[in-house]
Amino acid sequence: MKCIYCERSSEEVPLIPFHYRGADFFICSAHLPLLLHKPEMFADKLPQAGENWSDGEGHHHE
Ligand SMILES: [Zn+2]
Repeated sequence: MKCIYCERSSEEVPLIPFHYRGADFFICSAHLPLLLHKPEMFADKLPQAGENWSDGEGHHHE
């Protein structure tokens, strides 16, 4: 297991597991805020990253 962003393993950094679209992923503590605030940076790793993830804002259009 390794961080989907920096590919560091749990030998080096704390990894947090998460589940998305039927698959299991891990992200390190350093990149968890990035997943929360800049999910589009994960678009090549997570299909449709960031789409409809926000709550309370409704849907927004570009
Ligand atoms: Zn990372």
